[in-house]
Amino acid sequence: MTKKQAHQPQRSFTENVDRMFDRAASILDLDPGMAEMIRQCNAIYQVRFSVKLKGNLRSFVGWRALHSEHRLPAKGGIRYSDAANLDEVEALAALMSYKCAVVDVPFGGSKGALCIDPRHYDAEDLEKITRRFARELIKKSFINTSTNVPGPDMGTTAREMAWISDTYRTLCPEDINAIACVTGKPETQGGIRGRVEATGRGVQYGIREFFRNPEDVSKTGLSGGLDGKRIIVQGLGNVGYHAGKYLSEEDGAHVIGVIERDGALLDEKGLNVEEVYQWKVEQGGIKGFPNARFVEDGNSLLEHECDILIPAALEGQIHGDNAGRVQAKIVAEAANGPVTFNADAILRERGIIVIPDFYLNAGGVTVSYFEWIKNISHIRFGRLERRLDEMRGARIVEVLEHMTGRQVPGEMAKKLAQGADELDLVRSGLEDTMRLAYQAIRETWLEDGRVEDLRTAAFVVALRKIARSYEQVGL
Ligand code: NAD
Repeated sequence: MTKKQAHQPQRSFTENVDRMFDRAASILDLDPGMAEMIRQCNAIYQVRFSVKLKGNLRSFVGWRALHSEHRLPAKGGIRYSDAANLDEVEALAALMSYKCAVVDVPFGGSKGALCIDPRHYDAEDLEKITRRFARELIKKSFINTSTNVPGPDMGTTAREMAWISDTYRTLCPEDINAIACVTGKPETQGGIRGRVEATGRGVQYGIREFFRNPEDVSKTGLSGGLDGKRIIVQGLGNVGYHAGKYLSEEDGAHVIGVIERDGALLDEKGLNVEEVYQWKVEQGGIKGFPNARFVEDGNSLLEHECDILIPAALEGQIHGDNAGRVQAKIVAEAANGPVTFNADAILRERGIIVIPDFYLNAGGVTVSYFEWIKNISHIRFGRLERRLDEMRGARIVEVLEHMTGRQVPGEMAKKLAQGADELDLVRSGLEDTMRLAYQAIRETWLEDGRVEDLRTAAFVVALRKIARSYEQVGL
């Protein structure tokens, strides 16, 4: 790290994203007018509203930013956080545009936030606040089945999405696709199986795909697959919990550290992610979890030696001041914007590979896309063909047994004769999406001498698609 890099001024989240964008745009030789058009946020709505909670009138402020409309609807989660602000919403909306483009999800980019700490409200009050916020956004078409479709993000879950969906259906009963106004809904409310864990699954599939390419792995100084690799996760929420759980339970990686709001846990032999998560849910934090070392200064673990560091909480966690001390070989960005522009340069110089956010955490929007398609087609995936697939499988077993004169072993016969259900199809579509997108990114990374890192490669892939789309409609 040079002295100059360490002492760069603090940039806003939007400035960080824009600087990363500019690096790629200059490589692509994008016309400056086109670059400006893609970079800018098209529309921003700020709303203030009041809700009577337990007899007292309380005021709230929220935003919805529409970054791009080259494809519609625009898509992006709604975040509940007391640190939310307009700059953050704009940056997150921009990342949604690039994210959708990089994984070939035909949506524009949007994002919303409400400045609120949801832990300070009970379910009854949160429902009132959410329904009122939704009404305000629906009135101005910042929530709309065909033009702007939110989903969950930090601080919101399927529960909030169900309230939003119900509010929309009440206000727009004539919209036959009303249920598609929001994704990430509970399964009983038009949601899709596999959405809750989709972002974490996508993180797992993305990291797996990286490890499937020995040439890429060798750049980190590591070798082999994920088995036995040592991981530290920051943020054991929806994304961090699922990513950590699957990587440890299914790929043999060891989650040696977990960083949360109240500190961190360290166990060099590997933590049981499910047990830590259950402890966090029951106790409201990770402190006191038995059989692991508790570290009061949680963020010091960002600098602990490990193979893969997965920031899955907030933006700006690895910055000019700590990037020089990060000891991971790979930083896998599960959160949006966890590495600042300065830190990115420092990590690059130090040979640490960053798997970029708008690729790695695209699993959520990918499965949201599947949910939206399911909602507008009004039929569950697999409903038409599942029995047919099963019959075909059973026929294959029959033919095999007839031709060989031997019985196909029970488990094999069962697998052959099993039709794919919604969850199988969602997982298969998600894995395919993450694998294909990584291949496109790495091709640009390895074949274009001007592209030094995966993030710039992902931007190049995304910007090419967005620019082409604008050019084709003559803008
Ligand atoms: P979440 O609210 O479910 O979980 C966030 C977790 O981070 C919580 O456990 C919280 O306690 C912890 N946390 C908060 N501040 C922290 C801090 N300072 N240090 C350590 N831990 C802290 O949120 P989520 O949905 O998992 O989102 C996490 C990140 O992933 C965000 O950047 C979000 O934008 C991004 N993301 C989420 C989705 C999704 O589908 N939920 C999709 C794409 C990207």
